[in-house]
Amino acid sequence: MKSMTEAQPRESGRFTFRKMVEGFDVVTRVGRMALHYPWRMAAAVAALIVAVVFQLYIPQFLGTAVDNAYGMLGHADTLDAARQALLTTGLLLFAASVLRGLFTMLHNYLGESVGQHIGYELRMAIYDKIQRLDFRYHDHAHSGDLITRGMLDVEGVRLFVNTGIMRVILLSLLIGIGSYRLLSADWLLGLLALSFVPFVGWRAVDARLSLRESWHRLQERLSYLTRVMEENLQGIRVVRAFAAQDYEMGKFDKASSQAMEITSERIRTRVSNGTAMSFAFYLSMGLVLLVGGQKTLAGEITVGTLTEFLAYMTVLQMPVRQLGLLVNSIARATTSGERLFSVLDEEPDIKDRPDAPDLEIKDAVLQFDRVSFAYQLGEETVPVLEDVSFTLSRGQTLGIVGPPGAGKSTIAHLIPRFYDVTDGSITVDGQDIRDVTLKSLRSAVSVIQQDIFLFTSGIMNNVAYGDPWADYDRIVAATNTAQLHSYINDLPRGYGTLVGERGVSLSGGQRQRLVIARALLMQPSILIFDDSTAAIDAATEQRILASLREHAADSVVVVISHRLSSLMHADEILFLDNGNVVERGTHESLLAAGGRYQALFELQSNPTEEE
Ligand code: ATP
Repeated sequence: MKSMTEAQPRESGRFTFRKMVEGFDVVTRVGRMALHYPWRMAAAVAALIVAVVFQLYIPQFLGTAVDNAYGMLGHADTLDAARQALLTTGLLLFAASVLRGLFTMLHNYLGESVGQHIGYELRMAIYDKIQRLDFRYHDHAHSGDLITRGMLDVEGVRLFVNTGIMRVILLSLLIGIGSYRLLSADWLLGLLALSFVPFVGWRAVDARLSLRESWHRLQERLSYLTRVMEENLQGIRVVRAFAAQDYEMGKFDKASSQAMEITSERIRTRVSNGTAMSFAFYLSMGLVLLVGGQKTLAGEITVGTLTEFLAYMTVLQMPVRQLGLLVNSIARATTSGERLFSVLDEEPDIKDRPDAPDLEIKDAVLQFDRVSFAYQLGEETVPVLEDVSFTLSRGQTLGIVGPPGAGKSTIAHLIPRFYDVTDGSITVDGQDIRDVTLKSLRSAVSVIQQDIFLFTSGIMNNVAYGDPWADYDRIVAATNTAQLHSYINDLPRGYGTLVGERGVSLSGGQRQRLVIARALLMQPSILIFDDSTAAIDAATEQRILASLREHAADSVVVVISHRLSSLMHADEILFLDNGNVVERGTHESLLAAGGRYQALFELQSNPTEEE
């Protein structure tokens, strides 16, 4: 059986030439992003070309220096002239090395800086997109996966500027011009000097792709190990209670040995390929020495020319070995870019219409007109609400009750347009909510959700999340209505007390009250309690509702609850079942009707009797 913590591979299979061609669009898109910084990019390429020119001059100067030194051994016409020539060549060699170093530094700096700017641009774009994508997208997206895209994939694309674009130019120039110079100086010696290139290039690319593939497998194993350990720590009491230490050890040991095997395989790949590439290089060098030595003896070339060949080979060795890194960079940018751009290209269904006006609230009349709704699960649509209608105006309260899964929270989610209705319409003061800006709609509607989320920050910041400029009195008024102010005041650090993941442990009811205060602070025209008083005791809940009637008298209030005492004072109560309103009326009329509401009321009033 597959374990619950089994990892899903981020990427499977080896990167092939076909994938590289398929990923061409992605790579060119990253390239176009680099052109957002034209001057920086142009300066980086110019610095790189200058660095390559100096690098290619080095073997030539070395060859000349050797010939000059050879001249000093009595082969030159005058010793002084040879000494002078040697000195000049030495200085030129020194200057070329220094300038090559300086321009290399410059192009690395500029390339890296363009990469960092692209990284910033992408990070902001993806974060912005995540904020704007609608609930339909987030319902199916894995948050861990989105975090990976926002962090690791941005890194993969960012690095492509220096390790991909700049390296392509560098390697093409070095290998292209270097090979041309060797072949044009002496084609036979040139061919021998270049004989290592195909083999080393092939091994470098092949080994790098194999290391890349095993790196993904290793990451997968390591993240699996992390999750096993995390789950073990979280569930340590369950593990001990079921005496499952041996089973847990076995599970960890298996994944740990697999990780070790992959590491050994990677070491073997590295060592064997490194050795093979060095062997091929030195073999070529040996051949050049053998044939070049004979040519020197025969007077066909000078010792300096032979030195020049050997020095060119040394210069070429590194770029050829780096072909692997280049392919790796393309592969990483392709897969990372594909994943990133797929999020960036996603268009939210729920967005402002062009030139949409802001919502204008006069009488705050909220109307559901024959609203139907279905969730989209892939290709499938799941109908959840059918023909729901009601009208509420300022100061009125609507109660919604019904069995689990009846569609109550869905009604709450339709009002701030977390989802759009499938049929019918929702209007506020006659304005269809699809025709006004989302910002104005959502600042007029506050939904207090079942799931409580607190930010890791002080109580004050959590309450004032929707309006960081709210003054102290407004914050206190909101916490007072939520029946939380006196508790906060008694805390040693009062409103500065840290809550959230690493903050003080608030009880479920206190957390709910904090979230209610956060919503009340916004003084919304439409206030929705989505089963958000379930963890609060009945007496405190009644105090909150009484205070609310006083402080939110101008709002439209929707109370969704399983507890009838929470909504029995509502102006209208809907009993929802399977997406349909099966009963509606006031508490009294529903009791008198003797239907399901009345049965539920009986059950909640006299639970033991009913049981
Ligand atoms: P509860 O009282 O348990 O909170 P509810 O009456 O509020 O239930 P909803 O949360 O509105 O019910 O869900 C109604 C139906 O829609 C359920 O069958 C649920 O499985 C389904 N549903 C809810 N949210 C989604 C979603 N995001 N995607 C697909 N189906 C969903």
